[in-house]
Amino acid sequence: MKFVYDFTEGNKDLRDLLGGKGANLAEMTNLGLPVPPGFTITTEACKVYLDSGEEPAALRDEVSAHLDALEATMGKKLGQADDPLLVSVRSGAKFSMPGMMDTVLNIGLSDRSVQGLAEQAGDDRFAWDSYRRLIQMFGKTVLGVDGELFEDALEAAKAAKKVTDDTELEAADLKKLVTKFKKIVKTEAGRDFPQDPREQMDLAIKAVFDSWNGERAKLYRRQERIPHDLGTAVNVCSMVFGNLGPDSGTGVAFTRDPASGHQGVYGDYLQNAQGEDVVAGIRNTVPLAELESIDKKSYDQLMRIMETLENHYKDLCDIEFTIERGQLWMLQTRVGKRTAGAAFRIATQLVDQGLIDEAEALTRVNGAQLAQLMFPRFDEDAKVAQVGRGIAASPGAAVGKAVFDSYTAVKWSRSGEKVILIRRETNPDDLDGMIAAEGILTSRGGKTSHAAVVARGMGKTCVCGAEELEVDTKRRRMTVPGGHVVEEGDVVSIDGSTGKVYLGEVPVVPSPVVEYFEGRMHPGADDADELVEAVHRMMAFADRKRRLRVRANADNAEDALRARRFGAQGIGLCRTEHMFLGDRRELVERLILADTEAEREESLKGLLPLQKRDFVELFEAMDGLPVTIRLLDPPLHEFLPDITELSVRVALAESRQEPHENELRLLQAVHRLHEQNPMLGLRGVRLGLVIPGLFTMQVRAIAEAAAERRAAKADPRAEIMIPLVGTVQELEIVREEADKVIAEVEAATGTALKLAIGTMIELPRAALTAGQIAEAAEFFSFGTNDLTQTVWGFSRDDVEASFFTAYLEKGIFGVSPFETIDKDGVGSLVKLAAQAGRATRPDLKLGVCGEHGGDPESVHFFHEVGLDYVSCSPFRIPVARLEAGRAAV
Ligand code: PEP
Ligand code: MG
Repeated sequence: MKFVYDFTEGNKDLRDLLGGKGANLAEMTNLGLPVPPGFTITTEACKVYLDSGEEPAALRDEVSAHLDALEATMGKKLGQADDPLLVSVRSGAKFSMPGMMDTVLNIGLSDRSVQGLAEQAGDDRFAWDSYRRLIQMFGKTVLGVDGELFEDALEAAKAAKKVTDDTELEAADLKKLVTKFKKIVKTEAGRDFPQDPREQMDLAIKAVFDSWNGERAKLYRRQERIPHDLGTAVNVCSMVFGNLGPDSGTGVAFTRDPASGHQGVYGDYLQNAQGEDVVAGIRNTVPLAELESIDKKSYDQLMRIMETLENHYKDLCDIEFTIERGQLWMLQTRVGKRTAGAAFRIATQLVDQGLIDEAEALTRVNGAQLAQLMFPRFDEDAKVAQVGRGIAASPGAAVGKAVFDSYTAVKWSRSGEKVILIRRETNPDDLDGMIAAEGILTSRGGKTSHAAVVARGMGKTCVCGAEELEVDTKRRRMTVPGGHVVEEGDVVSIDGSTGKVYLGEVPVVPSPVVEYFEGRMHPGADDADELVEAVHRMMAFADRKRRLRVRANADNAEDALRARRFGAQGIGLCRTEHMFLGDRRELVERLILADTEAEREESLKGLLPLQKRDFVELFEAMDGLPVTIRLLDPPLHEFLPDITELSVRVALAESRQEPHENELRLLQAVHRLHEQNPMLGLRGVRLGLVIPGLFTMQVRAIAEAAAERRAAKADPRAEIMIPLVGTVQELEIVREEADKVIAEVEAATGTALKLAIGTMIELPRAALTAGQIAEAAEFFSFGTNDLTQTVWGFSRDDVEASFFTAYLEKGIFGVSPFETIDKDGVGSLVKLAAQAGRATRPDLKLGVCGEHGGDPESVHFFHEVGLDYVSCSPFRIPVARLEAGRAAV
């Protein structure tokens, strides 16, 4: 295996092997741009070293051969006494990890060669300053000496001379400092600073390898989800100097503005300085445009190079350059980071310039960026006190008065107040309050807690699990760290993108992109509209490209209409449980408590017209598009009062000797329905099989609603979905009853309804027996929330708040499997079930309606395994459309 590549040997596609920096230095070299000669040691060499603790046996000889070639090119030897070749040894991984790993400059300087450098440069001060920098950097990064000791010595030298600036130290001062630095090295590292230049280089290379596993680097990789086994490459590059006088300097530049995407001259320049001075902010830089008057020749050359790079990379590039006595050198380039808005603008600009096509443009943006552009944002300049931080559960910026119960949330919002609903945790009872609130804040629960899932579904800002906040719902107050008490009515602000909680009002800036999707803003001319124009065009590219259809999870007409505006091609999941809440609760309670057939019939009869009205509205909103309605799923106890509250009520009534028969019956029912594991209990299809008439009432409501719409010459396309099926027998029984009801409605109304009946695949057994289940199902919709829960054995309501943090920290997974589909486990079952289902029924329609339907990475997976559609909350629809387009590129 070859472990070392000369810059003339590599190219930009070898990032895995040469790291980003090495690959791009090679690419620039081969473009004929002025890059100081050098070579790159591969990530493979690093991996061998990290695995075995030893560098690969062949590395030393290979480095020698490349060093010989470099010395021949440069006409001088590393550390040569009279005219030393100096090199930098820089880290450079596949993914940029700015400042996280080590770099050593000026390798090759020693007590002897420092004299030679002084003579060659005609500048004593420069030579001694370079030498003291080497000892300082080498001491710190290679020999592990505490960097502050060098800093202190430098400060002491300045103090002794009564100067404040490094540049005011003269050659003699720096010479003394070198002696001092060498002493520090000897004392602290227990060895002399190496005088042999090759030893310096070899030790520096090893130190760069080691820095891959430095604490900083590991933490950064975890945050950025960069795999830990990639290793870093090492670039050995001949030094050029920007600190050789006023005709030298160093700078950074972008080929266009990384914030707006506009073309122009963007960058900074610092005369008579080295790169590290720019980073350290020792002196103020000037705008790049001023280089034109400082050094016109270099400036013009730089402009030409930037144009070459843009045309070559067909993208925004950022670069680092140095001018050494009027000679321009390129030290680095890479495709530059940019803001989400600029990503969209630049992609369309490049299409207009004819540099890239639509498909390529789609690879230049992503769903996370689009999601970011859709959130209203807090004004970052506002100075408002942060009082806590929780989990960023559902993005957005919300401001409102603190309320601690749903009832108050609804009441206040009806009177025009904006409120933030603060609870320890939420449950289905809080739904009205959550709808009424601007945002939701909880002190318990993780990303898949009730609050988080429901808030995301509604596109509502939510911060959950803010554990430092003590929420006391009884006394309607919350205590923040430091003891301050937030009373009901106090204004709070929550940022669902960062999890931050503020006391008081932080000003909010609305998102023009949402205004556009809502149809309230149209592509136009000023700055915001330029962004809207770009988003508009990118969405069109994605829609033209994608195979996956995108539907919405929506259960009321308002959400359905919004979803349609956002581009939904139907409803993939209408959860009917909300139709059992609010003022319908009484009917549901009566249904649950019914002792006789007649009582049960009575309450079902009461529910039927209400359900029917809901469905009519939904079909109206989604006319002409499929609407998948799921029959009741949650365990019944969720519709009954809280067991503790009810017990207290009964006990109180008893002690006061008040009549409490109803409460008592209710309490008995609650006890009867109480389950240790309700998620594995009487829910989904099991309810339909155990509570006579429940599912058939729902089916009748759907069928009658469809018939009514047909009669109105509309085009309802209902699909009935059975949840939590584990075996085909369950489905067959429910199906038989449903078919009978549909036939009755068809006969009564004289309409052929063509209602499809299908099932959710959300239990492992369902996935494993999908071939059989497909016999009785016209479609499958994967419920990846429950499937993840049951495949992993993780409780979706508890797990993120309990041990997920530990799992993430230990790298067991990089991201919660409830957020991004676990391809190897849950994903395999999806794939298997899709294939088995289609083997039984080739025209089986396949979709997904778990939270993963709106997650970028998961959308790509669903595309690959051949699903027909993904379904997600209305606000995720643009993201899913974009990602479905990207997946098809
Ligand atoms: C699922 O389990 O993925 C699903 C969509 O159903 P719910 O979240 O309502 O259980
Ligand atoms: Mg489910």
